[in-house]
Amino acid sequence: MNSLTYFDYAATTPLRPEAMDAMIQALRHFGNPSSRYAYGREAAQSIKAHRETIARALGCTAGEIFFTSCGTEGDNWAIRKGVELGRRRGKHIITTAVEHAAVLETCRDLERQGYEVTCLSPDRSGRIRTEQLRAALRPDTVLVSMMLVNNETGVILPVADCVRAVKAFDPAIVFHCDAVQGFLKLPDSPASTGADLITVSGHKVGGPKGVGALYIKKGTRLAPLLTGGGQEEGLRSGTEATAQIAGFAAACLSTMADNSRLERTQAIKNYTLERLKEAVPHLEILSAGDAPHICAVTLPGYPSEVLVRVLGDQGVCISSGSACHKGKPSHVFAAMGLPKAWLSGALRLSFSPDSTREEADRLVEALRQASQSIFPTMS
Ligand code: PLP
Repeated sequence: MNSLTYFDYAATTPLRPEAMDAMIQALRHFGNPSSRYAYGREAAQSIKAHRETIARALGCTAGEIFFTSCGTEGDNWAIRKGVELGRRRGKHIITTAVEHAAVLETCRDLERQGYEVTCLSPDRSGRIRTEQLRAALRPDTVLVSMMLVNNETGVILPVADCVRAVKAFDPAIVFHCDAVQGFLKLPDSPASTGADLITVSGHKVGGPKGVGALYIKKGTRLAPLLTGGGQEEGLRSGTEATAQIAGFAAACLSTMADNSRLERTQAIKNYTLERLKEAVPHLEILSAGDAPHICAVTLPGYPSEVLVRVLGDQGVCISSGSACHKGKPSHVFAAMGLPKAWLSGALRLSFSPDSTREEADRLVEALRQASQSIFPTMS
């Protein structure tokens, strides 16, 4: 990665070399998987193998995997078409205030179309409790959408427990889980949560951008979001992105083969947090994160956008929250009810198993220096 010191793996990850090789090969073999001649059938065979790989990574069967263009598409599809499955029972949706914009904005859009949305609020540490969800369930609830790992705090949400609570209340309620940040980052597979619909994305796991998958549990009769030529068993039309899918599967395969990845990621995160606490005056840990790869810290009162820019100018890449915020204050940290000064200086750090102590030391030193050259704008 040249001279970059990269601690923004929750925003995106570098393409794994195995993924690059698989993509180049797939680009050379340009056949359309829907074509009947051998060249097309070969492409279809490759997709079949890649679907099996993604299914293994998700903990499900190949027939439950449908390729999409990204995590955002998976979230839109699951929620927009998931609510239709309960059309006759009601128009109530439950989600959480810490979801990614792909979920929250979709729910807001449905609100404009007459749905009622209950947003569960996190506590000061970013946690949501099953009890909160249980209390929000109603006879007209049709869909629950809850993420597996929060992309800004690294907090793990109690999805498996919530699925049990929801299904005990009414098995017809559709449970969607945005597992974009939990996929291949936790010891358990996303499908083991029992959710009906699960979204994952390629570029968070060493695959390319522009590909994802939606897990549709066997028996869930989800309608397509994209209609057309009838690819993906008629559920997701559009010519399959053969190279993207090949890269996604290769990235999953090589990630799964790295058995110590979670421990190494956790160890480098722990080291970085320890060093930051020692070296950077006033720094507070906003969330140590349950998932191994994400945490958040704050320099209370400092403008995080300026800190991010100053570090960026030195080739040190971190973020002030989700990469999709584009400078707006994080809705996740705001929902946690943190003091204004803590919100202002909030920074997200995210790690890979291959992040090194040398890189961590560079980050710590850059943040220490920046905190001395920039002044807090609020107390
Ligand atoms: N959900 C979560 C939790 C994310 O972190 C992201 C990306 O940052 C997305 C959804 C959207 O995924 P994509 O970038 O593939 O559209």
